[in-house]
Amino acid sequence: MHVTFLGTSGAVPTTMRNPSAVMVRREGERFLFDAGEGTQRQMMRFATGFAVSQIFVSHLHGDHVLGLPGLIQTWDFNDREEPVAIHTPAGTRRRIRDLITVTGNEPSFPVRVNEVSPGDVALDGGEFEVRAFETDHRATSVGYAIVEDDRKGRFDREKAEEELGIEPGPAYSKLHNGEPVELDDGTVVQPEQVVGPPRPGRRVVYTGDTCPTEGVVEAAEDADLLIHDATFAEDRRERAGQTGHSTAKQAAEIANRAGAKRLALTHVSTRYAGQSERLEREAREVFDGEAFLPDDGDELDVPFPDGEGGD
Ligand SMILES: [Zn+2]
Ligand SMILES: [Zn+2]
Repeated sequence: MHVTFLGTSGAVPTTMRNPSAVMVRREGERFLFDAGEGTQRQMMRFATGFAVSQIFVSHLHGDHVLGLPGLIQTWDFNDREEPVAIHTPAGTRRRIRDLITVTGNEPSFPVRVNEVSPGDVALDGGEFEVRAFETDHRATSVGYAIVEDDRKGRFDREKAEEELGIEPGPAYSKLHNGEPVELDDGTVVQPEQVVGPPRPGRRVVYTGDTCPTEGVVEAAEDADLLIHDATFAEDRRERAGQTGHSTAKQAAEIANRAGAKRLALTHVSTRYAGQSERLEREAREVFDGEAFLPDDGDELDVPFPDGEGGD
């Protein structure tokens, strides 16, 4: 999986930071998480590609959705035909529809609006799911977790061929799929003899705007990457609580409790323009893994937990 941070600013953009948007590319498919104003230009600037199939909206505050009308209009100009799905918190379908048709036209391509509640599977991708989870933000809001299934264990070809004398062919895929195989001499080979334990898939979690909350700890259990609200530094902890946001340190505490490996701090208040190292420092004092505050355009690969690469 490949992540591009398109917009890392809080409610108000700066010359350096766009409002919220994150692009995730997984095996050629592109998913957009939130689409603040100007998201389409960020996609052009950072060459993420435009073929987004799924958009996941965390909540309907302007800094997360005002990029939708422009993006949809450009797709329309470009004669897009492929459908797009927009996942959005329950009760917000009407407002998403209004945003899409604000210029008075229906797009030339099908737009499916899918309302989701915490616990719902927003997207069932076969080998992975995108699940909605509960966040806490003084608005109807959800976060999203991309959760991949475990992959099959590694097949020990050398052992199969040389030690057990199994001819390469259909027997290999049978074993790899968990079925025993009988050899010509009557010996039965069990899959465990040549197939290692299942290997965990990846988990990438996007909170959108939120106070520190249990829903995130659960959703981000052992996450490879947690992208968490870090609007404020510790000097504004009270303000963070009042406005439904988190401090960088609070994000780090959540990441620790979840056992996440990496923490991306985002949605930074304009108050900290040019002081990103301050938020990073406060998070790093607490977090055992790797914490960082990406700039707009920063990219990141998410390898498998066993260290293997892969899209
Ligand atoms: Zn926001
Ligand atoms: Zn918000």
